[in-house]
Amino acid sequence: MCLLSHLSFLQVLLVFAKEDSQSNGFCWACEKANFRCSMARTPESALECFSEKHHDLVIIDHRHSRHFDAEALSICMLTCVLFLRPDREEASVMPLINAGFNRRYVENANMMACYNELLQLEHGEVRAQFKLRAGNAIFTALEQSQEAIEITSEDQVIQYVNPAYESIMGYQKGELIGKEIIEVPKSEKNKPDLLETINSCIRKGKEWQGIYYAKKKNGDSIQQNVKITPVIGQGGKHKDRRKGSLDVRSTTSRGSDGEILNKYIIIIVNIIITYFVIQVINIINAAQESSPMPVAEALDRVLEILRTTELYSPQLGTKDEDPHTNDLVGGLMTDGLRRLSGNEYIFSTKQPHHIPSHLITPLSLNDIPPRIAQTMENEDSWDFDVFNLEAATMKRPLTYLGLKIFSRFGVCEFLNCPEATLRSWLQVIEANYHSSNSYHNSSHAADVLHATAYFLCKERVKQSLDPIDEVAALIAATVHDVDHPGRTNSFLCNAGSELAILYNDTAVLESHHAALAFQITTRDDKCNIFKNIERNEYRTLRQAIIDMVLATEMTKHFEHVNKFVNSINKPLAESVKSVLTSPENRILVKRMLIKCADISNPCRPQELCIEWAGRISEEYFAQTDEEKRQGLPVVMPVFDRNTCSIPKSQISFIDYFITDMFDAWDAFADLPNLMQHLDNNFKYWKGLDERKLHSLRPPPE
Ligand code: 5GP
Ligand code: MN
Repeated sequence: MCLLSHLSFLQVLLVFAKEDSQSNGFCWACEKANFRCSMARTPESALECFSEKHHDLVIIDHRHSRHFDAEALSICMLTCVLFLRPDREEASVMPLINAGFNRRYVENANMMACYNELLQLEHGEVRAQFKLRAGNAIFTALEQSQEAIEITSEDQVIQYVNPAYESIMGYQKGELIGKEIIEVPKSEKNKPDLLETINSCIRKGKEWQGIYYAKKKNGDSIQQNVKITPVIGQGGKHKDRRKGSLDVRSTTSRGSDGEILNKYIIIIVNIIITYFVIQVINIINAAQESSPMPVAEALDRVLEILRTTELYSPQLGTKDEDPHTNDLVGGLMTDGLRRLSGNEYIFSTKQPHHIPSHLITPLSLNDIPPRIAQTMENEDSWDFDVFNLEAATMKRPLTYLGLKIFSRFGVCEFLNCPEATLRSWLQVIEANYHSSNSYHNSSHAADVLHATAYFLCKERVKQSLDPIDEVAALIAATVHDVDHPGRTNSFLCNAGSELAILYNDTAVLESHHAALAFQITTRDDKCNIFKNIERNEYRTLRQAIIDMVLATEMTKHFEHVNKFVNSINKPLAESVKSVLTSPENRILVKRMLIKCADISNPCRPQELCIEWAGRISEEYFAQTDEEKRQGLPVVMPVFDRNTCSIPKSQISFIDYFITDMFDAWDAFADLPNLMQHLDNNFKYWKGLDERKLHSLRPPPE
């Protein structure tokens, strides 16, 4: 079956007992019309020929019924022509029409008359047949599709849903067809203005694609990657961009605001694979409970495979996406495996920093200057201001905050290490952060350490982690961005930097932070905080630290968040207590913890949030400047200091990365104050954006 056969040659079968001017007329007409023509002389050869070629059109000579009984020769699914002699009576046509013939041609051997007849047939009935066949094929495809598909009329009345839709959403089609879309319950998880956004897009005749929460019949919300395509039917017309175009107004009078006639709207719901993974994990978990040991163990393996596959990244369409989101995806979600530009850029190969001796102040926790101690008094509160500490310590907040927090958690006792070693270690780590970076400097590390310590005190987190996990988390936070060059992974890969070469364009920075941290630590006994712990304990600790530092890599963002939700939040909601303490789940909690600490800026009090936004933007601007200077690909074009809207970039960052992650983390760790700040900050950026401001703050009155 060929949907495109109207594009190839039409096949015509002529059934004529003998050659005459009429048969010649059709032969010539076929040639002129570029149709393929076969001739049959007997009913038997006609049937044989037809069963071989399945002609699109059969023309049967019925002038002399003694030659053929046209009624008996009913190849009648096809458009056929029967000839009538001019003298034959009209009444006798009816039995032939009943037999399935659908065209009557009165004898006329004139070649142009034959040709015109063929053209009319092609553009009328033959094409209609093709459309019917194509329609059948398309509906068969819709029925077989794994993706949920819904078709509505332009006024949003549901016309069709396919079986995949029924099984995913839990509805029977009878419950939906004929209903208006707004009558079907909606999920509360969507942003309130999402539907309006979608509708205005569709009304303009544009496709909409994005993440949407649908509500299943049983009330569950599921995250879906939805594509909604308006279909312009006959008589419909895209809005003409020319203003006041009269003919457009008149042809689109039924459009809701006079803009467009969308005959149908097709909604293709492409369930994110994670949804299936969640389902499968749930099913396997349930099956394990009632399975004998060997089966349960085999299922463990299956779960392990499911949990370690990389099915987790949402697939973004590239068309019509918000440019900020696109750039975040390009700049943060991808790393290597981009083609290097010809313009190779090699980073200076500098040795790790050693601390100049004059900076090694003989301080212990007890003799921290009061001015500095004061700025750390509320370090156990979320509202702690790391920028005060930064100022008071002349940009060495990490050492001081580290001393205080590590002491609060008894890290030296755990590691069996003198406080002096810890101090030296903090100093050398801090010295390897670049104070020239506007964002990725030791204040960011101190901030992440602060958030990590804060999270470690949450009841649920304490329940799920062991002391060694806490120590690992604090160390990981401290070192997690050490020697950050102030450029993103994409930049390093594009530039062909030494680090990108060393780490094969894969998790370049994160690999470097982790590797360098261990190099610095173990190179010199004076700062080796691991010197006195047992080999096995060291291995466990080292493993955990590396895992957490690597978890800060943003290409794995959705994987980590989804695994956390699937393996921890969902079972917890069903009060499966054991989820908290299994070793695999502890890993997921630790990854989520450091990730949330790492990008918690939008959950900080507003002034802190604004300062961080200014710093990250400046660092990105500097990268764009350098990309332009070096002729490298600009990985995040929206971060151009001449054009960037910081409020928009923050809104996209929050929408794309922060909201879902902190919803999940809050559900686990209970962080109402953070969520309040997040809400507040989001509104702050929205407010600026609505005033079309691009800056961090509104201009003074
Ligand atoms: P980090 O490099 O700090 O360990 O990982 C956090 C990632 O999130 C970094 O790639 C950082 O650039 C990015 N990030 C943190 N805060 C923001 C922000 O406010 N906006 C954007 N666009 N990216 C951010
Ligand atoms: Mn970081």
